[in-house]
Order: sequence, then C-alpha cells, then structure tokens
Amino acid sequence: MRLLVHSARQVVQVCDQGQRSLRGADMDRLAVLTAETDSAGLAVAVDSDGRIAAIGTNKTVLAAYPESRFDQVVDATGRVLLPGLVDAHTHPVWSGDRVDEFAMKLAGATYMEVHQAGGGINFTVQRTRAACEADLLEALLPRLHRMLISGTTLAECKSGYGLNTVTEVKQLRVLEAARSHTPVQISSTFCGAHSVPRGKTSSEATNIVINEMVPEIKRLQESGELAVDSIDVFCEKGVFNVDETRRILQAGKEQGWLINFHGEELNPLGSAEMGAELGAAAISHLEHVSEEGMRAMSAAGTVAVLLPTTAYILRLRPPPARQLIEHGVPVALGTDFNPNAYCLSMPLVMHLACVTLGLTMQEALAAATINSAASLGRGDTHGSLEVGKQADMVVLDAPSWKHLIYQFGEASNIISHVIKAGQVVHSRPGAAGPGSQF
Ligand SMILES: [Zn+2]
Repeated sequence: MRLLVHSARQVVQVCDQGQRSLRGADMDRLAVLTAETDSAGLAVAVDSDGRIAAIGTNKTVLAAYPESRFDQVVDATGRVLLPGLVDAHTHPVWSGDRVDEFAMKLAGATYMEVHQAGGGINFTVQRTRAACEADLLEALLPRLHRMLISGTTLAECKSGYGLNTVTEVKQLRVLEAARSHTPVQISSTFCGAHSVPRGKTSSEATNIVINEMVPEIKRLQESGELAVDSIDVFCEKGVFNVDETRRILQAGKEQGWLINFHGEELNPLGSAEMGAELGAAAISHLEHVSEEGMRAMSAAGTVAVLLPTTAYILRLRPPPARQLIEHGVPVALGTDFNPNAYCLSMPLVMHLACVTLGLTMQEALAAATINSAASLGRGDTHGSLEVGKQADMVVLDAPSWKHLIYQFGEASNIISHVIKAGQVVHSRPGAAGPGSQF
C-alpha cells in the first residue's frame, strides 16, 4: 500500500455515486464526510497503483489495512482532505510577460492603442517563436509549481502562441517534456487556431491548421513523440468564424482528440450549438451564450468552462453561470492563465466565481474538481475522492473545506500537503502534523 492519510476532521468526496459530472441542483449537494469526534477521525488508504482503496473512519480503514502495510503515512489530525483541483483552461507555454500592457490598460488605453504599441497576442507570439524549447520549459515549470502549491493536480495546457507549425509543435513538445519534471498532470491541447497570424486571412489560417499542423502533430503522435488530448479554436468575430471553427474541430476529432474550444466570448455566434452538435467535451468562456446554446450543450453533455479572471480583468460582462446550471449544463472552472490574465490559483478562481458569477461555494468546488475533470474527459478517474479513483488530494489546515475559498489569496498558506496518485508531492514548510513522516 502506498499511502495512509488518517485522523482527518473532514473528507470532501465531492460525489460518491460514480458520477462523471454534476449538474443542476446536484452541484450544490456535495458528498462530505465529517468525523463525529476527533478521536474517530477519517482515513483514506491508497493502493500501490496510486488509487483510492478505502475511505472511512480510522477504525474501519485500519481494520482492513493495518498501518504497517503503508509506505507513507500522513497524520491529518484536525485537517481537511479534498480532491486535487483540476484547472480546466490554461495557456502556460509562452515567453515575454505583458505587465506594461496591464499598466496601459489601467491608465485607460484601448485595445487598439495596446495593439499599436506592439502589445497583445502578437507580442507573445513573436517572443514565443523566438524562444528555444529549453527557455520555454524553464519558464513553464515554476508556473506549474505555483499551480501545484495552490492545490492543482491536473491542468489543461494549451499551445497557441506559435500560429505556425514549427512553434505550435515546439509548444506541444515543451508540454511533453514538462511531464517528467512536474507532479502536475498535463492534459495537452493543440490550439493552433488561437488567432489569425499576421499577413494571413482566417480562411488561409484555417487551411494551414488543417492541412499542415494537424497532419504534422498526428505524425509526431503516432511516433510516440507527443500525446495530444484535445483540439481548440478561438471562435470569434474577426478571428475564426463558426464554419472555419467547425472544419478545424472536425479535423481534430478525426484524430481522436476531444473538442474543447473558446466560444461566445465577445459576440453570440451560435458556436455553442455547433460545438454541441459535434459532441464537444467542453466550450470555454460563453459570456454571450444563447438560450438555445445552453439547451444544446445540456442535451449533448458539453461542459461549460467559465473563466472568471478574464471577465474580471477585461471588465467583460460575466457569463450566465446561474442559467447554465439551471439548464443542466455541467459548469467547470479554469484560471485561463495567460500573459493577459496572470493567475495560477484555482482557489482564487473559485472565490471570484462565487462573488462575480454567483456560484455557491459547493458549486464552485464541484466546478473546480469533478466538472473540470469531465471537461478533459477524465470524470471517471479524477475529480472526486471515491474508491478506485486516482488518489489526487489536498490536505487543508483549516476547520472546514470552505476556508479554501473564503480565505482568498491564502491557498498556498493553508494547504499543508498536495498528494498526486498517492505520493506526497508538496508539503508546506513547517506543516508536518503530529506523528507525520513529512
Ligand atoms: Zn483561453
């Protein structure tokens, strides 16, 4: 047996009936175990494959698995155990920050003024094209580490700052290389249609993505050099229209990739209906999703990935989170980490989702765990604490799990341990509990 965590005050399972996502009122009803007394604390046992073997009181778990059988033991007396967080949307591979652009925007600069000053996505594309793989990896790893210490154990990570075959492949290679350097599990997304490159029309860019990029990535995937999980397009007025988006997503679907794209952010285009029709796993943003779009997503089981940091920083109208939930669309959350929205913390995102989107704390946690996992096609293995699932866990130094959202900006100070597949991969200095081996 790999790991025993014992004597916890609370174990937040999120769900306990094998659900692959939570919808509607179920998002507000989480499965939470609470110890009746401190001496009757709760325990989780993890097998040698990193999967959860048992959850229950110390007494029942230890009766089935004596303590001497475990390689590692964490004493979680008085602490709370919850699933590792899943970040459903990030753009983490790039070079060159845009802090000056943030200052310009705060001073009232318009999008066009930022653009004319050489800012925006073109700046990031230029810098990312110029950077070598080693430099991009060196920039990526500390970002992943900061995700980890804020509780993220699985993150969706996109390419999309190359916009040409060679740099898109370079970004995907960097994500591949990162896998052996970080405990954060990476779900890799090809986003070659993130923007239309300078000097090309969207129609030309669509053809390049379909006829050059997808075949090259397919070749690298077949030779075992890359593993890509999903395909993404920025479907927006003046970027890729609905028909172009559909063609690109279809090309990705034919490779066996999940469809997971940006839609309905600035203008309602009907991309939610199109995505649902293609069987999309997820659509992100959705600030302008229509009633019909919500119905189509609900019927198709397409997850809505909401990104409160973006709406906050760009001062956009927030997405209709409550209507999405009422329509039965599974709602998930992501940081949208990118040079324009520098946030790596899912607890901060959960806090914003409660305050700016009107989610309850239960809904925010469901969105940041089981539903985010579902958006990546991993609701069967990740996102909740249930027997048989991968033991990705966060140990919290607080009287209840709600402190993870309530104490905003404090996650890395109250998370005592992060556990990935039953291995303790982070423990906060000074956080070792009584009798803990860490
Ligand atoms: Zn994005």
